[in-house]
Amino acid sequence: MTTQLTEEHISIQGYVRELTRRVEGIEILEPSAGTTRYSHDAATAKTAAANGKPGPAVVLPTTAAEVQAAVKLATELGVTVVPRGAGTGLSGGATAQPDQVVISTEKLTAIIEVSPLDEVAVVEPGVINADLNKHLEPFGLFYAPDPASFDISSIGGNIATNAGGLRCAKYGVTRESVLSLDVVLADGSLITVGHRSIKGVTGLDLTSLFVGSEGILGIVTRATVRLRPIPVARKTVSAFFNSTAEGTNGLAAITLSPVRPAAIEFFDTPSLANIDAHSGTALRERGAALILIEIDGYGIGDQAADLATALSAVGGRVTVESDDDGVRLWELRRSGRGLPQDKWYIGEDIAVPKSQLPKVYAAFPALEARFGVDISAVSHAGDGNLHPLITKDKTPDDGANPPASLLEAATELVKVALSLGGTVTGEHGVGTIKREWAALELSERSREVQHAIKAAIDPQQTLNPGKAI
Ligand SMILES: Cc1cc2nc3c(=O)[nH]c(=O)nc-3n(C[C@H](O)[C@H](O)[C@H](O)COP(=O)(O)OP(=O)(O)OC[C@H]3O[C@@H](n4cnc5c(N)ncnc54)[C@H](O)[C@@H]3O)c2cc1C
Repeated sequence: MTTQLTEEHISIQGYVRELTRRVEGIEILEPSAGTTRYSHDAATAKTAAANGKPGPAVVLPTTAAEVQAAVKLATELGVTVVPRGAGTGLSGGATAQPDQVVISTEKLTAIIEVSPLDEVAVVEPGVINADLNKHLEPFGLFYAPDPASFDISSIGGNIATNAGGLRCAKYGVTRESVLSLDVVLADGSLITVGHRSIKGVTGLDLTSLFVGSEGILGIVTRATVRLRPIPVARKTVSAFFNSTAEGTNGLAAITLSPVRPAAIEFFDTPSLANIDAHSGTALRERGAALILIEIDGYGIGDQAADLATALSAVGGRVTVESDDDGVRLWELRRSGRGLPQDKWYIGEDIAVPKSQLPKVYAAFPALEARFGVDISAVSHAGDGNLHPLITKDKTPDDGANPPASLLEAATELVKVALSLGGTVTGEHGVGTIKREWAALELSERSREVQHAIKAAIDPQQTLNPGKAI
């Protein structure tokens, strides 16, 4: 496939030429059809394939100094930069146009240090989350944040999105595991924020500012992350219920019990049916809603018994699963559902205070009737984060784009979450996809403050413009 060069490409080619001249041996891919895989993330792959544009220029640095040089030159030449980890994002945060330069961290994969006594690891941003945990196993330690994409997403991407995961019910989201960061700013300078010590309150908490900033404030080139001892035991407990409503009410029984599970995931009736259809299982024969729980640590038998008492009292049929069945159930949670390729669909990432989860599920039927859609949701119930899937049948009258009612239904559901004290995005970030919804949540003044912070450290808007805020 040949690519017609436009003025935009020519200026990008000037950037590529100059960076090649300034930094000996730096690896750069010129914008071409071959770099289109860098133009999208997991959420925008379909759109990118449909628009047929060539990909961006891509820099593949192997040192922080190369990142600095690449960013500094971009600011000098007025070229904009998209930081990129593994491209598994679900908000369009790593999308890039042909006139942009992607700085990919895929070659920054060193695990620089593991310190069992400080309980920290020092890593480069391109390390894949699962690879870090494999490396830590012989030390008897683990890194807790575990997005369902743990075997394909990078630590840098997890930090930039403040990724959640299944075990954050007990161990917190990525922010709770990040102590210190090296960050390259838009002018090419490199700063270290945070502390290797567990405590540290000198100055403003810039570490928290960079965590979850979706690549708009700086590029993370090194992270000091907290580790924990691998629990002495882990067990999976399932509780099946007769209806979605009964299951969501069961969640409160866990909160009111003395047990604090590592993970609490909830599946409504259509989600169980989806898994059965997609993965050939028979979960619906066991019930119409499922709370899937992982308990860990000492006294696992006592924890299981207390949970069984609490959940049975509210109608749950509780099983302590065998290790093999437990592994299988968690696999089904991560990848057991199918996307309806023959329908229009939108996925969401809303979160509410966990006591409000039953009300979100209870709102689905009225929205389904009003907009002619179907809604189902699995949720990280331990922290009130739902992933609703809103679908609508295709009709011969539909054009290339989904009917407006699909987006209207999704927006109404976002408003339901906001009315319950929730948020438009629990863990995937705003990216390009949720900026209009973010405006429903944040006050004008709050958005002004965010833009002022961006302008103070990136006045030329070099880094990931048009994303997140
Ligand atoms: C199957 C599947 C399951 C998923 N499950 C979860 C889940 O359970 N929880 C969850 O939170 N997410 C989940 N995600 C979403 C996604 O995996 C996370 O958002 C992840 O943190 C993105 O990491 P990445 O390396 O792919 O980053 P990318 O997609 O490459 O980038 C994400 C954002 O971070 C920025 N960025 C990347 N690296 C850096 C860096 N070094 N410095 C500054 N900015 C940077 C990018 O510009 C972009 O804005 C899932 C995705 C998939 C496909």
